[in-house]
Amino acid sequence: MSKTVRSNGLKRPWLLSASRDLCDRLEYHLSRILQSDLAAEGAATAYIVLLDETEYEVHPDIGGLSCPELGWMLWHCIPEYRRNGIGPTVLLAADRSDYRHVVLTCRAIHEMAHLLSSPSMLRNPDSPPETKVQTGISLSETLRLHPDKWPAYSGKPAWATHGLQFLRAILHLQERMYCRGWEIPLSYLGDWKGYGYRTPIATYLAALQDEIDSRRDEPIRQILSSRCPKDFLKMWATDLAAVAST
Ligand SMILES: [Zn+2]
Repeated sequence: MSKTVRSNGLKRPWLLSASRDLCDRLEYHLSRILQSDLAAEGAATAYIVLLDETEYEVHPDIGGLSCPELGWMLWHCIPEYRRNGIGPTVLLAADRSDYRHVVLTCRAIHEMAHLLSSPSMLRNPDSPPETKVQTGISLSETLRLHPDKWPAYSGKPAWATHGLQFLRAILHLQERMYCRGWEIPLSYLGDWKGYGYRTPIATYLAALQDEIDSRRDEPIRQILSSRCPKDFLKMWATDLAAVAST
């Protein structure tokens, strides 16, 4: 990724307001779906924040960002953000295309799956305020100066950051969003081939379908901490072996 940094500022304000409306709806539905996951982390809501609403500039290739500490960074720059207390946060670049509904929805689901599959969606929610401020400052510096050094990237290959638990999380999330009327094609949710998946994602979904149907009321992070269905695991092992041999 190039280190060139360019403003993501919108020239047409109505596009920002249309994106904001969509983010509000995404925030509502994702927070409802993740209610028990959020409660387990001491959070009442998840947040979808538009980059264009912040002071940050990032590389135009970056469509969405997430990391467990992101909330602390935004706490100081967006007053509205504080309305329901700290919560897992996804930062999205507003989209200018006619397909922004699909683009932003996919990015939100994708980034939320990263948070769900990380050890904590909201790292150290009880750490002292001083530490939180420092974390926020250092993250904003990273985003401003070296967006390619964002913690989620941190030199790891794409297959490592979009691995088994990420895939399992995103399939559960996509299905729960679908039940609420958000019809998002699986192929739009990630660059699956680029991550190293050779087995079609629909085949993974089929291997997970029983779990998705029978555990749809369980917190997703609780599901992730349980054993994977055998066929799903087998497909993953085969794809991983292929990636490792290249
Ligand atoms: Zn990703």
